[in-house]
Amino acid sequence: MSKFDSFKIQIVETAQSLVQKGYLMATGGNLSLRILGQEAFAITPSNFDYMKMTPKDVCILDFGLNPLEGQLKPSVESGMHGAIYQVRGDVNAIVHTHQVYASALTLIKAPIPALFDEQTRFLGRSVEIIPYAPSGTGMLRDTVAKHVRSHNNAFMMQNHGALIFGHDMERAVHNVEILEKCSLAYLLALCSERKVSKIPLAVREITFSKLRKDQKKVEKGISETGGE
Ligand code: 13P
Ligand code: ZN
Repeated sequence: MSKFDSFKIQIVETAQSLVQKGYLMATGGNLSLRILGQEAFAITPSNFDYMKMTPKDVCILDFGLNPLEGQLKPSVESGMHGAIYQVRGDVNAIVHTHQVYASALTLIKAPIPALFDEQTRFLGRSVEIIPYAPSGTGMLRDTVAKHVRSHNNAFMMQNHGALIFGHDMERAVHNVEILEKCSLAYLLALCSERKVSKIPLAVREITFSKLRKDQKKVEKGISETGGE
């Protein structure tokens, strides 16, 4: 038994559910949860079959990437996850996937503009493309840390995949699903070569302001109570 058990269990259950739904494949992608009240997070091990993963395989790291628990090598993107938790106080769960339709948009460097109300309410004003940097590098960590300051909750990494946030893991998973729906709809619309219509700017701003309100509430909770 460990005080981190509930985080580890949630990581494994979520990873396996994302595999079953087709958002994670083989060992690609990674996911993490902030350990509330500590400068630490739980993250999937590197290059490990999600369907064979058990809670004891999950790694617990502090923000300096020092291991607090776990025997396996942590994800190569641990630095990126740790950097996001440090710049985004409203984010408590991070999912990185290689989901197919969002990945396709990264290949043509097509950010998703404000297309649907649910998109701007939960993912942000747009889904930006973060410029390419190789997987697992400090360059990717630093590029990502710079871009996520925009307060959006979903991003696409050029020639790589998607990065999705939530105030909890359930929200992050819902956001993965919204992103994939938006990506497929946008790709189909682009294929038609007709003009793609967007939601009115005023609606984009009203829905985004609701997301910002939620984020500020979560951030305030973390700073006032130390995350407990
Ligand atoms: P890890 O298995 O080390 O998490 O790497 C997978 C990945 O998606 C790298 O970007
Ligand atoms: Zn990846």
